[in-house]
Amino acid sequence: MIEGIIIRGVGGNYYVDIGNEVIECRARGLFRLKNIKPLVGDKVLIRLTTENEKSGYIEEIGERINEIKRPSVANVEQLLIFFAVSNPEPSFLLLDKLLIAAEINNLKPIICFNKSDLCSEEKKRKLVDMYVNTGYRVIFTSIKDIESIENLKDVLKNKLSVFSGPSGVGKSSMMNAVQPNFELKTGDISEKLKRGKHTTRHAEIYKLNFGGFVVDTPGFSSFELGSIDEFELSDYYPEIKKFSVGCRFDDCLHYKEPDCVIKDAVANGLISEIRYSNYTKLLEDIKNSDKVY
Ligand code: GDP
Repeated sequence: MIEGIIIRGVGGNYYVDIGNEVIECRARGLFRLKNIKPLVGDKVLIRLTTENEKSGYIEEIGERINEIKRPSVANVEQLLIFFAVSNPEPSFLLLDKLLIAAEINNLKPIICFNKSDLCSEEKKRKLVDMYVNTGYRVIFTSIKDIESIENLKDVLKNKLSVFSGPSGVGKSSMMNAVQPNFELKTGDISEKLKRGKHTTRHAEIYKLNFGGFVVDTPGFSSFELGSIDEFELSDYYPEIKKFSVGCRFDDCLHYKEPDCVIKDAVANGLISEIRYSNYTKLLEDIKNSDKVY
């Protein structure tokens, strides 16, 4: 049997990349019996049909590390969260929501501030400082800076990645810079949010010529914060979680309680004011939605 990865699935046909070529495969009936549907991104074992070496059957599907819904892809390893340093100005609240979506979906988030040519070293330092105690990786890119493009290639190399971020921040430009002729397929997440519906289309993953794959559609059009309760929210803010051990109450929400070490940490610059303010906004959202339901 031959190992491969499903890069495209259309009407029961799965296109499996086996390294040097792509084989059109059908899934064995036993998957249907077990109610398992192969997904783009699945690592599979295939057997070639004897009469036609260019087609085959999927015999086994490897265990998935995750399964994201929109776009529907398995085994995505990392989420590149794109924002521009300016033009447009970043929405840090949306950025936090994407970080949370990454954690929920078991993806490693990488914050990518693009258009770094438009920003001073001081502004860059401030952006880095915002995430300094979070453990999240922050990179800066610009289509005008070849070194930053090489760095982005290193980040993408041998991984299955998905891009996210609002329109106009330079996702397509950066994809084209790392691999010419690559076009991200759909509009951006904020447009999808505005329309309030999701365009269903077949997900596809795109092979990078230096190793690795990228999902051809920007990811995450919805944020399922509804599944997080107010006490869990700080789990998604690593720096708040880290510093909260000194709080007087075990169940401190770091909101309006007295003697909260988190508020001190914000005052002392150990936690970014913007991050803390987003945390309280999301906490209020969660509290309010609890009241409704
Ligand atoms: P997308 O909607 O996120 O895919 O963004 P695009 O790739 O379409 O880029 C939006 C605009 O930003 C275009 O006019 C690009 O030329 C411009 N742009 C993209 N990357 C950079 C960059 O690194 N620096 C500057 N100054 N402009 C950029």
